[in-house]
Amino acid sequence: MKSKSILSLALAALLLLNLCGCENMVSAFSSHSALLEQGEAFWADMRENQQFGEAVTVTEQNSPLAYILQYPKTEHPAIDARIEEIVAEIRSDFEESHYPSEEENSPKHTLLLGYETYITEETQLSLVFFESDQTEGEEYPRSHIRMFHFDLKEDKEVPAKELVWDGFRENASAYARNFFTTTEPYKSQLPDNYTKLLKPKRFSRFALTDTGVLFCFEQGRLFPESLGDIHLLIPYDKMRAVAAPVPKHDKNKPWVALTFDDGPNPKHTTTILNTLEAYDAVAAFFDLGKLVDLYPYIPRRAEALGCEVGSHSYNHSNFYYLSNAQIAADVQATGTAFQKALGRQPSIFRPPYGNCDARIESQIPMASVLWSVDTLDWKSRNASAILKAVKDSGDLNGKVILMHGIYESSAKATALLVPYLLEEGYELVTVSELIEAKSGEKPQPNKLYGYSYFG
Ligand code: ZN
Repeated sequence: MKSKSILSLALAALLLLNLCGCENMVSAFSSHSALLEQGEAFWADMRENQQFGEAVTVTEQNSPLAYILQYPKTEHPAIDARIEEIVAEIRSDFEESHYPSEEENSPKHTLLLGYETYITEETQLSLVFFESDQTEGEEYPRSHIRMFHFDLKEDKEVPAKELVWDGFRENASAYARNFFTTTEPYKSQLPDNYTKLLKPKRFSRFALTDTGVLFCFEQGRLFPESLGDIHLLIPYDKMRAVAAPVPKHDKNKPWVALTFDDGPNPKHTTTILNTLEAYDAVAAFFDLGKLVDLYPYIPRRAEALGCEVGSHSYNHSNFYYLSNAQIAADVQATGTAFQKALGRQPSIFRPPYGNCDARIESQIPMASVLWSVDTLDWKSRNASAILKAVKDSGDLNGKVILMHGIYESSAKATALLVPYLLEEGYELVTVSELIEAKSGEKPQPNKLYGYSYFG
């Protein structure tokens, strides 16, 4: 295969150049000094962060591809071999992404490679490679950052996961969210989906420095390309602090709550949860105690995804026709089901059929929650009709949407509705989160949050 021969050629070329002491190597092609000049501009900012190793410089012009590379030589044989292997991989990736492009007028591509090295505790070396893949005629290069760790004493590479501690990613994520939402020029240029882009799992690539942990974001990945590569250095005390709770929802967006009654249903509630998980969204489920007894793993999964699970009575009784003693028995049976499945009592309640009055309310030791957008999903049993009902409801800010988790059509509608609402700029929240945002306090027991509350 072609890529393999390119790789071995690249390796051979590197070894050869390396032997020559490349700082003053004259390229076999013309314009070596022009390439070097371009490299010096690219490397200028990295100089002060090259704490270890001697720079090896390689320039090559092999039309339409040019290489302007710099990487460190550490005098640790196994580490140097590994670094050369990484550089060969970088060259090979660059070549593969531009071959075949050997026609006369194909655009010229230049690979610029620079690095920073950081030393901590005398033997811990972090290496950051900055690649810039520039195509003639294009305004912005493609930028790529790779980070590696080495133990100088042992002369070997160390996997990043061996260097992190408890709360490492969570702390980094919390710090980055706070920093980028309060500091210009980032604050005003954050993309809508920044919470997703700054999730803890995005902080597994880093360099350890004298003063803190360095994270780098490629040009154009988080902010507009004009801001270039972003460096974020988080001091060690912030990285070691007990992780601050990460705000779950964006307060600057309109909030809407999806609710699903009558479940859990092993098929359709599961499909709904799959959709919510795929979009990193949440909803509230008002479950029947008797079904929680049968399928306790479903509300457990819902909670694990950040969704809210409340009571919808044990057996879907019409509470208008229940005596106070019967209501108490229902509350107790449902509470036992929740206790077994989730280890707690339900704190919110949706009365079946929405039937609630002052007498019933006084008997219910939970917040009773109705809705303000009725999709009539039980009636239409049609996903596009359900979607239309929501679209026809105007501004959804602060509203609670009623659906049922037991129909295939409602599960299908959810798969359309969630991306629709997110694209419209809504933040999907739970009912309790919505009430807390509106009232400044948690949903109160023996209180009805009725249709007009979410109007
Ligand atoms: Zn119901």
